[in-house]
Parts: sequence; C-alpha cells; structure tokens
Amino acid sequence: MSETRTTETTDIPETGGTSGTSGLLDSPSSLEEKAAGLDAADELAKHREKFVLDDTVYLDGNSLGALPAHVPARVADVVARQWGDLRIRSWGESGWWTAPERIGDRIAPIVGAGEGRIVVGDSTSVNVFKAVVAGTRLAGEGRDEILADATTFPTDGYIAESAARLTGHRITFLDPDEIPAAVSERTALALVNHVDYRSGRLRDLPGLTAALHAAGALAVWDLCHSAGALPVGLDEHGVDLAVGCTYKYLNGGPGSPAYLYVAERHQDRFDSPLPGWNSHADPFGMTPAYEAAEGAVRGRVGTPDILSMLALEAALDVWDGVRIEDVRAKSLALTDFFLECVRAYAPVGRVASATPEAHEERGSQVALRCAEAPAVMDELIRRGVVGDLRRPDVLRFGFTPLYVGFADVERAARVLGEVLRDIPAA
Ligand SMILES: *Cc1c(COP(=O)(O)O)cnc(C)c1O
Repeated sequence: MSETRTTETTDIPETGGTSGTSGLLDSPSSLEEKAAGLDAADELAKHREKFVLDDTVYLDGNSLGALPAHVPARVADVVARQWGDLRIRSWGESGWWTAPERIGDRIAPIVGAGEGRIVVGDSTSVNVFKAVVAGTRLAGEGRDEILADATTFPTDGYIAESAARLTGHRITFLDPDEIPAAVSERTALALVNHVDYRSGRLRDLPGLTAALHAAGALAVWDLCHSAGALPVGLDEHGVDLAVGCTYKYLNGGPGSPAYLYVAERHQDRFDSPLPGWNSHADPFGMTPAYEAAEGAVRGRVGTPDILSMLALEAALDVWDGVRIEDVRAKSLALTDFFLECVRAYAPVGRVASATPEAHEERGSQVALRCAEAPAVMDELIRRGVVGDLRRPDVLRFGFTPLYVGFADVERAARVLGEVLRDIPAA
C-alpha cells in the first residue's frame, strides 16, 4: 500500500482569489458573518461545552477525539474507589466483567445495530483479524478468495493478508468500486473501509453489501472513520461483520478499545480464531474444553482493559440525546463551508481537494493536496489550527460536529490562506 495511491482530485480555487477580497467573492468579513449566522442556528452547538477545548481550532478529531470534560473525574473514581477500595469485588459490583457487552450496547445505536450485537475490546487491528478469519469460516468451503480494499488504512491490509495466508485464501486488493464486477462464487468476503482515511471518500455501504450478498459473499466493514460521524445502518443494510475504533469520532481516548459487530443471523456460527477464556460459555468453570458463549460475547478474548474501557464508557455519555442524523447534517454543512472558505481564501492553484464534492461520497473530513503540505501543516499547528499530514502531500482536516463550529471552520481556512501566502510555492 504505497503512500502515493490516492484518489483523483478536484481543483479547489476555480473561483478563488489571490487576496480573498475580489468583489466577485464572498469577502472575508462576509464569511465571518455567515459563520456567525450558522453557529447561531446550530442545534448541536450546545454540546461543545461538554468537551475540554482551548482557543486552537481542533480539526484532528478523526485521529484522536477531544476529551469530554466529565471523563477525568469518572476515571479517577474507577482508579481510587473501584480499584483502590473495592479491588477484586469490582469485577462484579462495579460491572467490570460485563463492560465489553454493556459498552457495545451503548455504541450500537450510533452505528444502527440492535442490542447484543457489538462487543468492545482489543484494538481495531485485532478485531480485523477476528472478523476476517471468522468471516472465512462463516463463508464455508469452496470460497477461496478474500477481496480487500486497496485504499485501506494499512493495518487492515497487513492483517487481511496474514489472515489469508493462515486460512489458505487468495487475497485480491482492489478499489472498492471494482467489487461488484470482481465478486464471484469463489469470494468468501470483502473487507472495506467505510470512509477512506486519506481522502475522506465515503463508500456505498448498502450497495456494496448488496452486491456481495448477491454473489453469496460476506461484507466486512471497517467503520473507524464513519462511526460517530454519520449513520451507518449496520442492521438495516444487512452487514455481516464490522469493526471500528473508539478514539476518533467516539472520543474514547488514546488507545481506547475497539469493537466488533456480528450480525444476529451469524452469531450462532461465529467461530472466533481467538477463543480466549472470556468468550467461553462458562469462563469460571475453567474447563479444558472450549465451549463458545452465546451472542456477541463470542468476540471477547482475554481480560478487558478496564481503565480504558471505562473511560470510553464515560465518554459515550456525550451522545445522550444526540441523533446521528443531526450529526451528519452538521458534518456536511461544516465540510461544505470549509470548502467554500478555502476557495475564497487560498491562493489560486496551491491546494486541490481530494475529498468528493458529492455529499453521498463524503465522510466528515476534507483532504487537501498541497505540494508544500509538511511545512504548511507545521505552520498551521503553530498558528493554532490543528489538522494532520498524510505524507507526502495531503493536509487532512477532520470535522467533529459535536465540538467544531462554523467560526472554527472560517478561521481554519483563513489561517490556511495566510500560511500559503507566507510559504512560497515549491
Ligand atoms: C484508525 C484506523 C485503524 C486503527 O487501528 P488500531 O488497531 O486501532 O491501531 C484501523 N483501520 C482503519 C480504517 C483506521 O482508520
């Protein structure tokens, strides 16, 4: 997976100006006014105060979500009282043992899953392994091929390749758009990223899932860049297996545990390649013979990482009363407005968007290609606009609707324009 494999770009500054003050354009002050109006009408704006933020514009929530303000006290209680005072009793009395399934049920409505289908634990990488190997076992004999997203975040590709070698499957990397033509009676499953981590392209989850099912194959989705940013509809669209992380748009904290979704119809036959004692029907029976538990619990492996897990559980409180459809509407408004502001402020020809214009193909980030991207991102961060760099030339800006506002967007684009003027074109 080379760093240069990227999607096509669209030139941003067709209507751009060199100074941003051309009479044909929205002037900077009019964009500031527009931002103020959008913020005033924003129903989600009230959630911002639930987070610890400073006066930087934080557009890196697609890499590490901001800290919800109530989490430190909750974690302190877990450490001091649950661990310090109650010690071993907390496995039962503080609900530690059942945390993986309980927190899975908190994530479920955000990704359109019913109760009992999601279990939290391990990293996304490990859950990709469980899903791919278990997916080949569900698909059965005679299907000897795995299709994998060639544009994937690298870890999924590495793990899928190893899983294919272990299970004796052939693996084919392809652009997800090629799946409908490539899937056949030999395909066990396809592993696809719902939103591309680099370009921000949103894949057609319902359409690709249906195309896979039409050929009798399973759809395994990685939701790292979509969960918490847009509706996923796992049950509604008949997704077979899914994985995702919780430290991006779900704000669970650095290295917070990932999750695994197993469709209800597959749960009885879900055969984990990592059948640890936590997934046993009677874990405290301590029997030599393995017998899988019922339901999503089968996705568990070993003793859960309680401190991270309970920090995540606390962080999920910010979703109380929030509809993911409203989050999606604001996310699109934020990225539309960012593109509009970049068009107005960026000098002509310096940046080009790698993120699709069409809403149905856009996640919650904007990726701008820029020849001077490394120096530009360093300077943006120095001036209080935090995005990130994907080498060699992508400036990545993630928009978390629960805490990013329209004034932030206008300021980020304005500072980007200033930085581009101060850093000469290579
Ligand atoms: C962020 C991300 C991961 C992260 O995997 P970890 O095991 O948590 O490090 C995996 N896949 C995708 C698509 C991602 O965006």
